[in-house]
Amino acid sequence: MFDDMQSTGHEQIIHAFDQNTGLRALVGIHNTTLGPALGGCRMWNYANESEALHDVLRLSRSMTYKSAMAGVAFGGGKAVIFGNPAKDKSEALMRSFGKFLQNLRGGFVTGQDVGITSTDVLHMHKETKYVVGLPPEMGGTGDPSPMAALGVFNGIKASVAYRLQKDSLRGVRIAVQGCGNVGSKLCHLLHKEAAELCVSDLDTSKAEAVAASCDARVVDIDQLLFEDVDVLAPCALGAVLNDDSIPFINAKIIAGGANNQLDDESVHDEMLLARNILYAPDYVINAGGLINVAHEIMKLPDAIVEKTKAIGDTLLEVYHRATKQGTSTGKIANHIAEERFRRRCS
Ligand code: NAD
Repeated sequence: MFDDMQSTGHEQIIHAFDQNTGLRALVGIHNTTLGPALGGCRMWNYANESEALHDVLRLSRSMTYKSAMAGVAFGGGKAVIFGNPAKDKSEALMRSFGKFLQNLRGGFVTGQDVGITSTDVLHMHKETKYVVGLPPEMGGTGDPSPMAALGVFNGIKASVAYRLQKDSLRGVRIAVQGCGNVGSKLCHLLHKEAAELCVSDLDTSKAEAVAASCDARVVDIDQLLFEDVDVLAPCALGAVLNDDSIPFINAKIIAGGANNQLDDESVHDEMLLARNILYAPDYVINAGGLINVAHEIMKLPDAIVEKTKAIGDTLLEVYHRATKQGTSTGKIANHIAEERFRRRCS
């Protein structure tokens, strides 16, 4: 474990265990140079402890980069709870995790992620104040996915302006993978600007609902990544950009909301560059949700929309620097983020 922490640059891995409720969880604190660690809590049926450790290390590290690029004063952290969210979840389990968070006294602040619902967060909140994404009547800013979608929308506009020299999305062909919280809201924003959409979702009823309201075409889930479009927007799961998919992608731009889109960030953004596909680094373009919850903590809700819209400008800076240096956009984004969170250390 310590070798893994050394290679990823982590500060802490904290174990949470409660015999009474069966709580088993890990919290990864990657880097707190810019502020206390902030990141979602995931519940997943991990095959073993090393799979959970791998996940928490990877996810918490990317939160440090996301905060640094979004310009919010937080560090990177993430929690993973072991178990099947459909079978093993209970109010007692969530409250026991809440007690554990309270004992960390704000060193880690968390919210919803895969397998954790807003109700679960409310259960945690019965024991701790260190959770975000609370409903407005409880002083929170609610569901962060509208801001995640708005950030991706602005990122797509900036990417289209940069690569296609178009200042409008009218007639721009965009394929959206995943019609969940982020994907469906993104489709509505794109439809308003008269983009030509095609969509897919494992749950065909979700794809059909978006298709009906956004005049979109439904595409088979195995085909969507390879559609002949201008922009591919992955808004489902991670690792979709890999050895098998990249050689067959026809889009000129990849700009979507999913986390960890590159299967292996050390090679796959270079593969996209070699194919002349403009890649919007995921943690830059999908930071709207983080901006939302960070400003909930800072009690500055008025800054949320403005900061989320600025994601387009951040991407343009990444694109210009990558072109000038002849390197991939992923490497440039990592470099800018590292400059920001390492500068404070020295
Ligand atoms: P969600 O669960 O609401 O939606 C995901 C959708 O993708 C589901 O409808 C699912 O059926 C579909 N899906 C899964 N695999 C698919 C496949 N192979 N092809 C097509 N569809 C598939 O999740 P969400 O909140 O919309 O998040 C989507 C992505 O965006 C995730 O990677 C998440 O980590 C990331 N993200 C979410 C937020 C947020 O605020 N919700 C913020 C930043 C990033």
